[in-house]
Amino acid sequence: MFCPECGATDVEMIDGICKNCFLKKFQLMEIPENITVTICKHCNAKLEEGKWKDEYIPEEEIIYRALERNITISDLAENEEIELEIDQMRGTIAECYVEAVATVLGEEVVETHTPDVKINYSVCPDCSKRNAGYYEAVIQLRADDRELEDEEIATAEEIINRTLDKQFKKDKLAYIPQVAKLKEGNDYYIGSLKSAKKVVEHLKEEFGGTTKESPRLISEDKSTGKGLYRIWIALRLPKFVKDDFVKYHDNVYQVSDVDGNRIQVINLENQDIIA
Ligand SMILES: [Zn+2]
Ligand SMILES: [Zn+2]
Repeated sequence: MFCPECGATDVEMIDGICKNCFLKKFQLMEIPENITVTICKHCNAKLEEGKWKDEYIPEEEIIYRALERNITISDLAENEEIELEIDQMRGTIAECYVEAVATVLGEEVVETHTPDVKINYSVCPDCSKRNAGYYEAVIQLRADDRELEDEEIATAEEIINRTLDKQFKKDKLAYIPQVAKLKEGNDYYIGSLKSAKKVVEHLKEEFGGTTKESPRLISEDKSTGKGLYRIWIALRLPKFVKDDFVKYHDNVYQVSDVDGNRIQVINLENQDIIA
């Protein structure tokens, strides 16, 4: 046998040519010269197959991941090691350097490529809603037959913020586009109904009280006839708070505990506890 390319004889043949000639033509990896990634300019979520995902990943990491996803290594490669580098940013284009080292047919093969990763900036639907001040629910914090205490408002806002921070990991509409301070209480606008309900649940655990939901039709989808509703959730804190004095049947009681559903009082004359 001899190699038709170089005429070498008595050599190992692969695909009809000698190993040397094979390795000369061999391509270790394939990677497109131009790669485009579409990301949201606000949250860095990436658009992939029509879906936005993986928000808050640094841009560099997005570029590295785009390179990795686009590399195909030959099946003949063994012990391959791939090095990725961003040479420089030219506007929204990252000029990259990719080097692969592998063992192929017992020989070390090194191959380099210089692909460009272009970042296409867009805005994901959640961020565009957020920018437009979109909200699905309003929590109306009120007190029953009295004004809210400053301390209650401070505690409530702490609970609201803490709950939304936690919700935000899975619900990007867990935000407050606005707070309206009214004479009768505060209105907290919440991006998503789901997160608003979670907030109300936690507020009720802390303060007790009653809730009432009133949906309002905002608009109607002409094609489906389906309505878009916004829900107003009124949370009314109990009339009495802990340590309040209550007069009832000529006895004076002090409120010792209030939770979601009940109130506990102490008769100040005989220290009887009534729940
Ligand atoms: Zn040859
Ligand atoms: Zn976004």
